[in-house]
Amino acid sequence: MNRTIYFIEGDGIGAEVWAAGRPVLDAAVAKAYKGERSLEWVELLAGEKAFKETGEYLPQVTLETLAKAELAMKGPLTTPVGKGFRSLNVTMRQTLDLYACIRPIRYYEGVESPVKRPQDVDMIVFRENTEDVYAGIEYAAGTDEARRLIAFLRDELGANVDAEAGVGIKPMTAKGSKRLVRKALQHAVDNGKPSVTLSHKGNIMKFTEGAFRAWGYEVAAEEFADSVMTEDAATAGGSKPVIIKDRISDAMFQNVLMYPRDYSVIATTNLNGDYISDALAAQVGGLGLAPGVNMSDDLAFFEPTHGTAPTIAGQDKANPGSLILSGAMLLEHAGLPEAAALIHKAVDKVIAGKRVTVDLASQIQGAEVVGCKAFGELLGENL
Ligand code: NAD
Repeated sequence: MNRTIYFIEGDGIGAEVWAAGRPVLDAAVAKAYKGERSLEWVELLAGEKAFKETGEYLPQVTLETLAKAELAMKGPLTTPVGKGFRSLNVTMRQTLDLYACIRPIRYYEGVESPVKRPQDVDMIVFRENTEDVYAGIEYAAGTDEARRLIAFLRDELGANVDAEAGVGIKPMTAKGSKRLVRKALQHAVDNGKPSVTLSHKGNIMKFTEGAFRAWGYEVAAEEFADSVMTEDAATAGGSKPVIIKDRISDAMFQNVLMYPRDYSVIATTNLNGDYISDALAAQVGGLGLAPGVNMSDDLAFFEPTHGTAPTIAGQDKANPGSLILSGAMLLEHAGLPEAAALIHKAVDKVIAGKRVTVDLASQIQGAEVVGCKAFGELLGENL
């Protein structure tokens, strides 16, 4: 049985992390299923490589193919400056409606961490990816647009806004919030996770962040009543597999540091999700081994969370770990969990063996530095 995976190589270190990483994914599948299953990789062009071959950074055929695809994976893409759009990543996210950004965070034994018990962190962040202050509706202080908007707010709505303020708008909908929380709840139910925490700043922003909280509880009650209950229901003696709870986002930052074992799946708004994913990654030792996926209802588009690392590109120094772990997420999602488990085991073993790329070596006492290619080979040998 073959699974088709569309892939974009990416710019900068993209080519070398793929060259090191793809054989590991293929070998894991071959080993786990004794050659009976394999991955069929189909390349799509985007970024510098696309520009060289087609004169466009994001060819229409790439978007059209992805729009019909179920599984895809990409390397990092440079944002071309002054080429008519903000970012290839943002364009793809919007065009393909990739509304959920999902990042698992766990600890790898031996990596230096700023906290005492990084091994207690085993969380997965579901971040809403399309709304909130990221909608890009912002007007600089003193501009005609800002002054007109402020005049409307003051004159029509009686709001107290300084006429010289810069202003931004934070749109959030029931549809956008509910589909994100639905994905997080479904993940918890499907994977035996104990809880989903809605993280929000609803005490201050009642009709956006507060509404996110309310809509989240609504989805749980309306669509997951058989398997999900509130903290109050659990305290009252209820028994269902998943608890849904909520925390104000500032308290959430304290809690994940002090009581990480109390948190598992986190469902949150766009800006909060941006902050908490990086903070949690730092808690377990940085972004070097941080995988991710952006999902719509149809497409799961996996990617390492780092960028193109232009200063080390082409030098065999990059860590292919994030790409390989993103691949492991893809394998789990594609119903090949045994292959994903082999990859996790190999990453654990190789890090414990202290032969790692330079970024990790600087965080592991007594480690020996190996190149990108050699690190991939070590992972392959330890599957
Ligand atoms: P970056 O992630 O490329 O680099 C930040 C630091 O981390 C650098 O010191 C880099 O050398 C190091 N680093 C990153 N990945 C590494 C790896 N796999 N192994 C070892 N070290 C690694 O972030 P940046 O410098 O802010 O961005 C560079 C370019 O990447 C920009 O054009 C940016 O737009 C783009 N970018 C793309 C994505 C994406 O495609 N998803 C994400 C972030 C940044």
